[in-house]
Amino acid sequence: MQFVIFRSNFFKMKTFSIAIHGGAGTLVKGMMTPELESKYKSALKYALDAGYNLLEEGKSSIEAVEVAVKLLEDSPLFNAGKGSVFTAEGTHEMDAAIMDGKSLNAGAVSLITGIKNPVSLARDVMEKSEHVFLAGEGAMQFAKELDYKLEDASYFYDEFRHNQWLEIKDTDSFQLDHSKSVTEATRSQKDSKFGTVGAVACDQNGNIAAATSTGGMTNKKWGRVGDSPMIGAGNYANNKTCAISCTGSGEFFIRGVVAYDVAMLMEHKGMSLEDASNEVINKRILEINGDGGLIAVDAKGNIAMPFNTEGMYRASKSSTGAEEVSIYNY
Ligand code: ASP
Repeated sequence: MQFVIFRSNFFKMKTFSIAIHGGAGTLVKGMMTPELESKYKSALKYALDAGYNLLEEGKSSIEAVEVAVKLLEDSPLFNAGKGSVFTAEGTHEMDAAIMDGKSLNAGAVSLITGIKNPVSLARDVMEKSEHVFLAGEGAMQFAKELDYKLEDASYFYDEFRHNQWLEIKDTDSFQLDHSKSVTEATRSQKDSKFGTVGAVACDQNGNIAAATSTGGMTNKKWGRVGDSPMIGAGNYANNKTCAISCTGSGEFFIRGVVAYDVAMLMEHKGMSLEDASNEVINKRILEINGDGGLIAVDAKGNIAMPFNTEGMYRASKSSTGAEEVSIYNY
């Protein structure tokens, strides 16, 4: 009898799931040492499990995506939080966004400095301000009012990223994380990897959420902002369709309104999560020369993680038992 009750509850339980990314780009096997590869995989698995465990305990998708992104921000391996790339002035300017697919509430910050976990400040904008998007000095003022501790520059320093910057400092070049020094933006976008981080999740109540965080591009100037903090471009969530976090050449992802485009293909064309994500990443964004990828979930817990580059640091886990931690395109 007990067995019967257990089984009927089991089958009533909704599928919950989480997917995370640590950037997409030219990630060719052989360019990386086995040690580094396993470091990336363990950092991904650590963040994935932390988010998944919260979902398993019955916590919300917003909690899960914030915690997963915070852990990725804390790792110097990725271009977000600690390990963010250097701007033309040798500083770090970070962007982040978070969105709740149940209420359509969202929060975003841009051009912030010294904040250990930009995703948490984005969440505070969503929950503790009347606004959606705070940038630069205003965002810093908001953080100050909430008593955020400011880290000094040494916290964000990473030798690899500093060397990347030294190569192109004092030139007009700017580049995506890990790209070679180039003078032409389009070549840079072809030769690079993108180190932005993100998470999407579906909780046991079928509510979905998305969060994205980035240091942007090496040697960026003039207050450049990418797609990551822009609701609808690099980050979006709506229970009716999907939760999306993007990574790639931000200028193209903004113009393609990528995250919202996936949602609209699902809503208006009735496409599945998988088909809509593929259509945008492997067709629409390519048509305007954009490269990168995205992670997506829907309210049934389905997951899609398409990318049009050689690789994307990615991981996913579902209550169905499916789990993946991968880097390359196979
Ligand atoms: N999309 C990010 C930006 O343009 C870069 C990345 O994904 O690494 O700022």
